[in-house]
Amino acid sequence: MIETLPLSLLNDYIYCPRRAALKVTEGWRSANEHTHRGDIVHEHADLPGYEVAKGVTLLRALPVWSERLGLNGKCDIVEQHPDGSLFPVEFKLGKRRQWGNDDAQLCAQALCLEEMTGIAIPRGAIFHADSKRRREVEFTPGLRLSTESAIQALHSFSISNGERDGVRCGDAAIPPAVFKPACEECSLFEICLPKATAVDSRAARLSRDLFKT
Ligand code: SF4
Repeated sequence: MIETLPLSLLNDYIYCPRRAALKVTEGWRSANEHTHRGDIVHEHADLPGYEVAKGVTLLRALPVWSERLGLNGKCDIVEQHPDGSLFPVEFKLGKRRQWGNDDAQLCAQALCLEEMTGIAIPRGAIFHADSKRRREVEFTPGLRLSTESAIQALHSFSISNGERDGVRCGDAAIPPAVFKPACEECSLFEICLPKATAVDSRAARLSRDLFKT
């Protein structure tokens, strides 16, 4: 049986593999403005329960898992429509725009729900808190394939010493920093120091020169 990894870690891994590895090995979840706002956005959706609106049952904080993919986590909202169809909705910060990591996380939730219920789930939605608008995401064969590839890659670096939150990952598996636009919004920026620790940074070059034999 394969190890079970949290769905949220898949989002981190696609955002930046180093971010996922740092969280797993060191338990670093440094809060920044974005994580605080994210916590507030999730506050309501994090309360397990359900409500019915216009014939649609809204299941909040629904636990989901997949033995095949080795994943578990929860869906912020799953809409259950009168015809029995299911429609997952994930709450995210920011205005309505597309992020590949969010779409893959939502797709992974759908894959879990499909395995649990046997019901095909063709689409879901991301609810963008700032613009209060939904963006529908279709679970195309391409998105399903890329999501499953990312899940496999995530499992492949969860392999050696150390254990935290039930997930194992070795220090050796921490990828080097690569500074990119996404770093500016990363809650681990101050810990990761991507400008200083990037493999081709001046500091790294000086360090290599210093210890050259
Ligand atoms: S600061 Fe950048 S390189 Fe470092 S973990 Fe965050 S996204 Fe990755």
